Amino acid sequence: MKVLVIGGGAREHALCRSLSQDPAVTELHCAPGNAGIAQVATVHPVDQLDGAQVTALAVRLGAELVVVGPEAPLVAGVADAVRAAGIPVFGPSGEAALLEGSKAFAKDVMAGAGVPTARSYVCTTAAEAAEALDAFGPPYVVKDDGLAAGKGVVVTSDRAEALAHAGACERVVIEEYLDGPEVSLFAITDGTTVLPLQPAQDFKRALDGDQGPNTGGMGAYSPLPWAPEGLVEDVLATVLQPTVDELRRRGTPFSGLLYAGLALTSRGTRVIEFNARFGDPETQVVLARLRTPLAGVLHASATGTLDQLEPLRWDEGAAVTVVIAAEGYPAAPRTGDPIEGLAEAEAADGTAYVLHAGTKADGDGRVLSAGGRVLSVTATGADLVEARERAYRSVGRISLAGGQHRGDIALKAAQ
Ligand code: AMP
Repeated sequence: MKVLVIGGGAREHALCRSLSQDPAVTELHCAPGNAGIAQVATVHPVDQLDGAQVTALAVRLGAELVVVGPEAPLVAGVADAVRAAGIPVFGPSGEAALLEGSKAFAKDVMAGAGVPTARSYVCTTAAEAAEALDAFGPPYVVKDDGLAAGKGVVVTSDRAEALAHAGACERVVIEEYLDGPEVSLFAITDGTTVLPLQPAQDFKRALDGDQGPNTGGMGAYSPLPWAPEGLVEDVLATVLQPTVDELRRRGTPFSGLLYAGLALTSRGTRVIEFNARFGDPETQVVLARLRTPLAGVLHASATGTLDQLEPLRWDEGAAVTVVIAAEGYPAAPRTGDPIEGLAEAEAADGTAYVLHAGTKADGDGRVLSAGGRVLSVTATGADLVEARERAYRSVGRISLAGGQHRGDIALKAAQ
């Protein structure tokens, strides 16, 4: 199978790494890719938001499967364009991707499907926002309705800050605060059959102890030893399957990766958000544990044949990923710094490896930082303690001027 992956972050590097290890994959391409992806796939420059360009590339390469990684091309309808050319695509249509692209649409789908989520109001004026904030009380949760690359949500007890965020967005969803630990559960679906993956937890704040600003994600681990038994089955029955059924019923079937961000509250499991694609950095740890070759799973989603797939096989052990971010991330990341120690950070037995996020190769064979999140150092082990040790040992071998990472990824769960 010839496969083309769209995107160029650590999530796409994780996808490419798994696909490159699948014996069914005869050719692997990625566009635009990054310096790490270039080691396992042929990379091509492309405007990933341009459906015509992506389709032309897929046709030229003779791709038999196109995997769209990030949300922006999905919402822009890139999967529709490729599908219209008759090529199987892993990823939802632009209409179905609105589940991530519009918080208000997601709330409406959840209401229709009877999926438990935070009570909420959609507001477009300052007066409406003020009324909604006071209806729920602090801590306030204010979400930009549109795509905001993980930065559209403000959670604060400061009413003025909450109002200011509402004022800065055209349309916001204001909702009740959900307490309790968060879980990311991914499912692969073809629009009818839903196949949950293993749960993971990510770390959104920039600094240790969940301090500092919100980020795209600073690390993740899987499995969750503290999670209640039956969590996956429960979420499949109450969240994932009803949502997929509701979208099909509405005439906008969702195929690809359905990501449920969940809060396990004292009153039960609630959906915090849906995403329409693999999450970064949870993908790095979930795929590290997946034993079933990946291409066949994604192809079955793309061709509506998931019901014929054997049950997924998983590594019983654990995986941890630690993100190394650039100086100044998330506000104003500095780029262009050389990265050293990448080879030394990889374990010969494959138990630790470096996935590239924002990197690029310069002409002299050096790798430079080229984004806010620069690397995802990923390791596996018999348990979280061993996976953490290996991940942090690798992190310690990498040097990036001004680079920052959290020291407490998976720490509590490993104790
Ligand atoms: P999102 O971009 O929707 O994932 O939100 C980013 C982060 O904001 C989430 O991971 C949560 O930590 C937090 N958050 C979002 N919605 C809520 C809520 N209703 N209650 C508490 N925290 C929330």
